[in-house]
Amino acid sequence: MDFTLPPDNDPRRLEIRVWLDTHPHPDRTTLATGGFIAPHWPGPWGRDADAVTQLIIDDEFQRAGIRIPGASIGVGWAGPTIIAGGTQAQKERFLPPMLANTEDWCQLFSEPEAGSDLASLRTRAVRDGDHYIVNGSKIWSTRADVTDWGILLVRTSDDGPPQKGISYLLLDMTTPGIEVRPIVEMTGGRHFNETFLTDVEIPVENLVGTENEGWRLAKVTLANERVSLSQGGVLWGRGPDDPTVLDRIRELGCEDPILRQRVADLYTEMAVLRLLNQRVMSAQLTGGDPGPLSSIRKAIGDKHGQKAMTLVKDLEGPSTMLDGHYPYEEDEDLWAWGHYFSRALTIGGGTSEVQRNIIGERLLGLPREPRP
Ligand SMILES: Cc1cc2nc3c(=O)[nH]c(=O)nc-3n(C[C@H](O)[C@H](O)[C@H](O)COP(=O)(O)OP(=O)(O)OC[C@H]3O[C@@H](n4cnc5c(N)ncnc54)[C@H](O)[C@@H]3O)c2cc1C
Repeated sequence: MDFTLPPDNDPRRLEIRVWLDTHPHPDRTTLATGGFIAPHWPGPWGRDADAVTQLIIDDEFQRAGIRIPGASIGVGWAGPTIIAGGTQAQKERFLPPMLANTEDWCQLFSEPEAGSDLASLRTRAVRDGDHYIVNGSKIWSTRADVTDWGILLVRTSDDGPPQKGISYLLLDMTTPGIEVRPIVEMTGGRHFNETFLTDVEIPVENLVGTENEGWRLAKVTLANERVSLSQGGVLWGRGPDDPTVLDRIRELGCEDPILRQRVADLYTEMAVLRLLNQRVMSAQLTGGDPGPLSSIRKAIGDKHGQKAMTLVKDLEGPSTMLDGHYPYEEDEDLWAWGHYFSRALTIGGGTSEVQRNIIGERLLGLPREPRP
């Protein structure tokens, strides 16, 4: 694993520096127009950047003190799927406002009876002229109460195996017939929702790819979700980074011998995770597919996030639990919020059990688990 970045006079660096010189304080729209929100996307939306060029861009932007906004459901998951299967008209309509963040997205995949076994979903769309009429309900739809558009999986046929009859639609969240009910979580926040769809009309032009063949595109979305949720930070990149968990532990001090064992255990795990990250990155840099490696990273990393947040809470002492639950805002107690939110890590984006199934079947060559 060799991560030496190209030298200072590399032409790719020089090109980025010229751009930064002419745009010293870029806002979101300027970054989007320059192709820097998702540099790996094809032009004109991205810069067709390979992995090394992306690292160079990160490096140059960091030096210039400019932060590229992290990937949202739109840029992270919906965008790559529209690029993979959308029409030219869909790309032109949806990608620019997604990159500029003037339209925000949610994901309407999970249903009360279809989570890990997503292909058993039952929300139905029936074609009626140039529209689909959609009926059904979705659950755990993150930010569906405040977003403009949703990526929606529906059943359009019952013929063949369940994966065969699924279609992938783009839903304008202001369409009549959509009712979004927030779910209050143990953090006190309203991160996700139940979404009910009653006779919702969606124009056929909002079908991505081919009718009944949406499962292939759903897998594109889920692969992007898994890689994104398996990277960085103890809470899917939203966790504490300044101070880090380790800074906080040092700040709190630790004299109890049992807790000290846990601190050392956590530190050891951190070292393993760092190496795993490098292996994933190395696979990407050499053009390979990290595949099940990102499942290993996610299976270990999600548990690690929970252990880290619980340890901080144990070091802070029980009195901090009396502070109540916190909907996380900039000025709230990130540690209290993170302690509660960390329970979600081993569920969202594919549960830890599902990650272990992938590892068992795809890496260890174990027989496939019996299907019902
Ligand atoms: C923070 C967060 C945000 C989310 N955001 C969204 C969103 O925006 N949009 C969206 O559509 N969904 C979202 N989800 C839902 C998420 O995708 C599902 O919760 C997840 O896929 C698990 O499905 P489930 O909750 O129905 O659990 P189930 O699939 O019912 O699983 C229940 C338990 O059974 C285990 N299990 C299930 N199948 C197997 C198996 N084959 N082998 C072994 N064990 C198994 C699971 O590991 C779990 O422990 C979010 C979830 C979280 C936590």
